[in-house]
Amino acid sequence: MTRIAITGAAGRMGRVLIQAVDAAEGADIGAVIVRHDDPMLGIDAGAIAGLGKDLGISAVASLDEVADQFDVLIDFTTPVATLANLAFCQHHGKCIVIGTTGFSDAEKAILADTAKHTGVVFAPNYSVGVNLCLNLLRMAAKVMGEESDIEVVEMHHRHKVDAPSGTALRMGEVVAETMGWDLKEVACYGREGQTGARPHKQIGFETIRGGDVVGDHTVMFATEGERVEVTHKAQSRMTFARGAVRSALWIPTQGAGLYDMQDVLGF
Ligand code: NAP
Repeated sequence: MTRIAITGAAGRMGRVLIQAVDAAEGADIGAVIVRHDDPMLGIDAGAIAGLGKDLGISAVASLDEVADQFDVLIDFTTPVATLANLAFCQHHGKCIVIGTTGFSDAEKAILADTAKHTGVVFAPNYSVGVNLCLNLLRMAAKVMGEESDIEVVEMHHRHKVDAPSGTALRMGEVVAETMGWDLKEVACYGREGQTGARPHKQIGFETIRGGDVVGDHTVMFATEGERVEVTHKAQSRMTFARGAVRSALWIPTQGAGLYDMQDVLGF
């Protein structure tokens, strides 16, 4: 049995992650961690997740309290919290699965550096469908990229704090890599006013926020005469949670290193 700890356990993803671990074969909840002032502190993981049963694991306020009680940490929180939790995992020889998005380049460099010493899975999206889409995008960029205008449109619920989404950025990166472009040079984040005509060598990003949308992404390849759109719509957070749990069961079998969901799926 792989014992899994979940940080940010009272959050939107945290609650669904508890459900996913509880339902997974070969995985047990080892610990759940919430903020020291969270109303869920001391509450059973089953109650936090709304499972209608107790799991016998009460929420604690720090990883130090449960260092001996888990093998892999799943962390969907914020960049600052994740980096602190990553340092804990490195220090205690634990693997970590990171779902948090919105890291700066400097924070990503710390993450890559730490992964030299411990197993880290880091993916902006743990759904199988989005990872399939990344491969479809490579194919579309190879076949149509040269003559297409490429735009990425994403929509998420009103609570999301980073934009564009980590998944939208990853989609843009995959297309840019395939085209031999540097995303930093070709990205255009929204348009307003007298923008002039669209340059060809550009990847546009449009962000929509509203309601309870779990996550919609479309990448358009628009040419004169036709348009190909690769679209993914997540209908439930469980799709991300299942992928994260799958990653948590996979990572202990690997050595130290930085992996993503494409590695976990064997793409
Ligand atoms: P959320 O509902 O805000 O949950 C985050 C949880 O982390 C909250 O309980 C929050 O507590 C806690 N937290 C934040 N900072 C903390 C800190 N310094 N110490 C302790 N706890 C802290 O957000 P969410 O919708 O679950 O999303 C979480 C992250 O996962 C986001 O970055 C999101 O983009 C990402 N995400 C990734 C995927 C994927 O497949 N990779 C899928 C969905 C979401 P408070 O509420 O008290 O701040």
